Amino acid sequence: MAHFTVIGLGRFGIAASLELIHLGHTVTGVDRDSKVIEKYVEDLTQAIICDSTDENALRELDFAQSEAVLVAIGEDMQSSLLCTLALKNLGVGQIWVKATTKAHHTILSKLGVQRIIHPEEEIGVRVAQALNYPMVNNYLPLGHGLYVVEIHIKQTRHDNSLGQILGELKASIKTLLLKRDEQLFTELASDFLLKKQDILLLCGTRSELKYLAPRLA
Ligand code: ATP
Repeated sequence: MAHFTVIGLGRFGIAASLELIHLGHTVTGVDRDSKVIEKYVEDLTQAIICDSTDENALRELDFAQSEAVLVAIGEDMQSSLLCTLALKNLGVGQIWVKATTKAHHTILSKLGVQRIIHPEEEIGVRVAQALNYPMVNNYLPLGHGLYVVEIHIKQTRHDNSLGQILGELKASIKTLLLKRDEQLFTELASDFLLKKQDILLLCGTRSELKYLAPRLA
């Protein structure tokens, strides 16, 4: 369990905060609008009214406990940048910031922000991927053309042994993990038979996975 601070509790900030809590972490939510704080005071570990462009006000918050601070102010670029600068001045290590424009992104990268998030673009790409490969439930790009994908097995075939399917492809795809109900399998022999509702994590190149995924799901 870790602690996080989320500054700006709009749709993006509150969604991230509630998901972190759902994942078992604690979250301090910060917003300058008292009505927003009142609305979420029961849901968050701590909810604080603060104008985050004010470095002295931010100094009162204890960032030392936070694993990372997420600046989720989008529309008001000036507030986002002043807040980020103040966090840098206060020595906060891990700062993640939501950006809305290219200029916003450029300045944030000059400020040395660890992770700049473009929610609309990132979600747009994920939605397109999901529409393109509906059998792939989730994916993670690893760089150098490699991806980890999560495939939900929806049907069983007679020849559904992993070895046979991977052998047909002659691919260098790695089987990382298989989840069946509450059981996890990490060592999968080539005669391992896939079953309906298995969840399979595979790692490989995009073209190999693109070929394989529809044959598994
Ligand atoms: P979303 O799309 O996530 O709903 P938005 O980009 O439409 O967000 P923003 O204007 O970015 O909306 O505001 C998000 C939240 O950040 C609001 O609740 C707002 O009150 C808060 N906020 C804006 N400026 C500051 C600031 N300087 N200090 C603290 N909170 C702020």
